[in-house]
Amino acid sequence: MLIDELKSIVGDENTTDDVAICASYSRDQHWHFVPPKRPAYVVRPANKEEVRAVLMLANREKIPVIPYSTGINVRGLAIPIHEGSILLDLGRMNHIIEINPEMKTATVEPGVTFGMLKEQTRKYKLRPAFPDAPLTVSVLVNYYLRGIYQTAAVDGHDHTISFEMVLPNGEIIKTGSRALSDMPYFRYGVGPDFAGVLCAHPGTCGVVTELTAKLYRLYDNREEYFIGFDDVEDSTGLIYNLMNDELAASIRLVDNQSWLKGIFGTFDYPYEKLPKFVLCVLVEGIDGIFEAKDKLVRAYIKESGGKVLEVPEEFKRTFEAESLGGAECSCMVFGIRGNYHCIGLYGPLTLAKKYYEVHKRTAIEVGIPEDHVHYYLDPIYSFHGQLCYVELDIFYDGSDPEFGEKLREYNRRQFQRLLDLGIYGWFRPYAGIIEPTTERIGYLAEVWKKFLHILDPNEIMNRGKLF
Ligand SMILES: Cc1cc2nc3c(=O)[nH]c(=O)nc-3n(C[C@H](O)[C@H](O)[C@H](O)COP(=O)(O)OP(=O)(O)OC[C@H]3O[C@@H](n4cnc5c(N)ncnc54)[C@H](O)[C@@H]3O)c2cc1C
Repeated sequence: MLIDELKSIVGDENTTDDVAICASYSRDQHWHFVPPKRPAYVVRPANKEEVRAVLMLANREKIPVIPYSTGINVRGLAIPIHEGSILLDLGRMNHIIEINPEMKTATVEPGVTFGMLKEQTRKYKLRPAFPDAPLTVSVLVNYYLRGIYQTAAVDGHDHTISFEMVLPNGEIIKTGSRALSDMPYFRYGVGPDFAGVLCAHPGTCGVVTELTAKLYRLYDNREEYFIGFDDVEDSTGLIYNLMNDELAASIRLVDNQSWLKGIFGTFDYPYEKLPKFVLCVLVEGIDGIFEAKDKLVRAYIKESGGKVLEVPEEFKRTFEAESLGGAECSCMVFGIRGNYHCIGLYGPLTLAKKYYEVHKRTAIEVGIPEDHVHYYLDPIYSFHGQLCYVELDIFYDGSDPEFGEKLREYNRRQFQRLLDLGIYGWFRPYAGIIEPTTERIGYLAEVWKKFLHILDPNEIMNRGKLF
């Protein structure tokens, strides 16, 4: 019996086919479009040897495996696709293997959360790059999915240095300098950049058991500015100047009715009296450099014609905490109408206004009220290609089945329109997005499929509904 073999690997108490427990892994927290599916087994390995043994068994028996690290699993990513799957819950592998303040790196297992890493790094005046997600999500998975946009613009986009991945056949791939030595600190150590090739799939082709990530410095000197604009376009000159001269640690352009509430940490404020868009800017640095940056920032703000908003001191602290310490408050914006739909993409600042316009147009066309349409833009260090993360948001009542239909139609039109308008890439290649995208990427799609086939010929890994 398979259950007995699984028990012999991870122990009786860490293996189950109990229906109630399996059912608790069958749902997703936010996504309207992915129906629940129950895994047949849940196993909880303690270390990479056990992961390896489970994978080899599953590969031999051709049983699908869904790795699951902290299991926030937004948008169906960790919900089984096939009947009879093994859910591999990696939550027991939650050790911070190393924090190296000299190298400015942290090496973590899958179950380490941003909250855990934040606590351990701040004593060195360092921090990880935080996503705008709860502090309970896995650091390793967030970086491995490579979906992160930085709440601190200064961190850049890619925080992974190297990692170790167990493949279905039991082989272990180590990327970068990790392959040659016990120094995991260099991304391009040996040959091609396999860290880049192996990550950011819609699902996965193996199980990452250890990852080394960059850490970033924390500074004592900080100042925050909130500048109001009536139009997306009016704010872009200021964003450009701040990014081009590398003056701000965090920059976010948000509309006054959605993410600003998260950034300020309260619903209780007359947001409707503010200009439609608010640019939130955080400046930080060491003595001397900070003062010089701050002076330039003030000059650029004045030149921009935006309206400098006077806000309570605690709002500034919330913005600062979120940008440099993780989103403890902002996720409450999901409660605005109970549910939240977004298309996240990367594109240039030059298209910022057009992204907003097409978002509004498509939403109104399919019957979504204009006041449900929201916007978020976050430029990314060091601004080559004017790289920005853009989020086209709709907050809605998830109990309204008609709204689900409207969103499906919105997606169908919007994915095509955005591809026609021009984007650099999607935030994450979620289901629905990937099909119209692969039609356009030509031979790359073929190579991608072949690559997956080499690593996972029996197709046991969760491929994220792709291919
Ligand atoms: C309210 C909210 C807001 C969010 N906002 C942001 C944001 O602004 N920016 C951002 O970047 N993210 C955001 N996220 C997403 C969040 O960061 C990810 O969900 C998280 O990083 C991954 O953790 P998880 O618990 O979801 O992973 P899991 O659910 O455990 O796994 C997610 C996926 O990775 C696979 N996987 C899990 N472990 C492994 C492993 N060890 N090896 C290989 N594959 C594995 C799973 O099979 C699944 O496909 C948000 C999430 C929430 C709930």
